[in-house]
Amino acid sequence: MKSVDQSKTVHAQKSVMPPASPSGTAPVPRIKTAASGSAPQPDPTLKRRIEELAMPGAGRKMNILGRLLVDSAEKTIWDRDTATLPVGARYWRKKARDFARTYFRPDALEADLDPYRYDPKPLLSAAAKAGFQTLMLPFPLGSAEPLTYIRSTVIQVAAVAEEFTTECGGLGLLLLAHHLGCAPVLLSGHVPSMLRHLLPLYGRLKQGAAESMAFAITEPGAGSDVEDTEGGAQAHLVTTAKRAKGGYIINGRKCFISGGGFAQSATLYAKLEGEGIESWTCFVVDKKMPGFSVGRREHKLGQRASDASELILEDVFVPEENVVGKLRSGWANNRNVLNYSRPCVGAIALGTGRGAFERALEFCRRTYLGPKRLIDYQDVQITLSDMAMSLWAARAMIWHSCAQLLRCNQAASAAAKVTGSDTAFKVCNQALELMGDHSYVHANSAERLWRDSRLTQIYEGTNQINRLALIEAQWEAEFNK
Ligand SMILES: Cc1cc2nc3c(=O)[nH]c(=O)nc-3n(C[C@H](O)[C@H](O)[C@H](O)COP(=O)(O)OP(=O)(O)OC[C@H]3O[C@@H](n4cnc5c(N)ncnc54)[C@H](O)[C@@H]3O)c2cc1C
Repeated sequence: MKSVDQSKTVHAQKSVMPPASPSGTAPVPRIKTAASGSAPQPDPTLKRRIEELAMPGAGRKMNILGRLLVDSAEKTIWDRDTATLPVGARYWRKKARDFARTYFRPDALEADLDPYRYDPKPLLSAAAKAGFQTLMLPFPLGSAEPLTYIRSTVIQVAAVAEEFTTECGGLGLLLLAHHLGCAPVLLSGHVPSMLRHLLPLYGRLKQGAAESMAFAITEPGAGSDVEDTEGGAQAHLVTTAKRAKGGYIINGRKCFISGGGFAQSATLYAKLEGEGIESWTCFVVDKKMPGFSVGRREHKLGQRASDASELILEDVFVPEENVVGKLRSGWANNRNVLNYSRPCVGAIALGTGRGAFERALEFCRRTYLGPKRLIDYQDVQITLSDMAMSLWAARAMIWHSCAQLLRCNQAASAAAKVTGSDTAFKVCNQALELMGDHSYVHANSAERLWRDSRLTQIYEGTNQINRLALIEAQWEAEFNK
């Protein structure tokens, strides 16, 4: 650490006299100083007077009713926020923090450095057993707390997502992408699909099965195009389903599929032969189906513990009963899936920002610059305060978007995703600035979280596409009046 005594530069201006007034009359000094020429004398009573002025001590001079309205309890922002959540989300938030500290913390660095050697099965199994992989349905079908679920279907997942990625974005995504895979079945509103594909899987997961489901819309020629209405109309899709006896034969290719390498099945979208994206249909495709294979695994910048893989389909026969919901309802289903997943992506981002903030805070507490700890300098305090406020505001936006009375709304979801990811990246940058050269070292995790956060501005629709999603949703009601 540098030995520059920054205290001189930070506090020097406090003893500067205000400039003389232009009229020549004696200026009224705003800062009281000792007689000109001599240094200001320290006030021996200052410390006691500051203590007297500080709350809650000062509050004792108020009458009893006034005192009841003062909140000066020493609580973390985490505790304050948790207390505002509905009971189910509160429970899962606490449980996810403990789980991530136990299971993610010891493996995060290694899984990031060498993701190809990381075996996801023990983590998948432990998370499933603890109920984290069945949160898209309420108890007894799944593990979400029913009353909270009725108010907001995704707040429990969002609360878990932030806690997971505070420890590691990659391990977080490894578990959380599974909810995205299950969402098309749930949001199809098609009970036979749920009974056939979701409930048996949920049953196995509750027993601790190391299984997961991936979500596959992206193709080599279609990324943003399948996340935006105008793009959709011009998308170049190759994955095609051809009618066959008892089902469909699918050919094509999906890419950048999170968890595609280890998931046992995927909800995969294909157009019908001879038609365009209007015919998009969602199918449950099992990895054991002949003709289905996993192609290239991408070498990623961040969230490295989770794979992003190509899925290749060569004459894969998919039975009729694996069509999710109605034929040609895939486009609407996909758009709605994104509405439910984007607040959770905002929460994934938020966790990476909070992780970097927590590491920077710890660094500032134990690092000395000259005679004082970093955290005792006011300019450092101002930066830390800005980081905490930004994260707090993003969390409020994310939780607000989750609480849109059961149904997720396109504008609020896009806003939550953009706010969460842009905030996280900004906060990660601030953490890197505070930690200086130490931030650049892998073992200190800040650079890993910074890399993890960057991805959240790209997937689930780039932030540009999400900004357009807000305009599209609010166009008639608000923008085009
Ligand atoms: C690590 C990773 C994991 C992923 N996981 C999954 C997954 O599990 N399942 C899945 O299906 N997909 C997944 N994706 C794909 C992801 O959702 C897409 O990458 C994302 O939607 C962006 O699409 P694109 O990369 O093709 O960008 P492009 O569409 O090629 O966009 C390139 C640039 O053009 C801009 N742009 C595009 N259209 C417009 C427009 N109309 N107006 C203004 N600007 C525009 C974009 O904002 C961007 O800046 C993943 C991607 C990554 C990188």
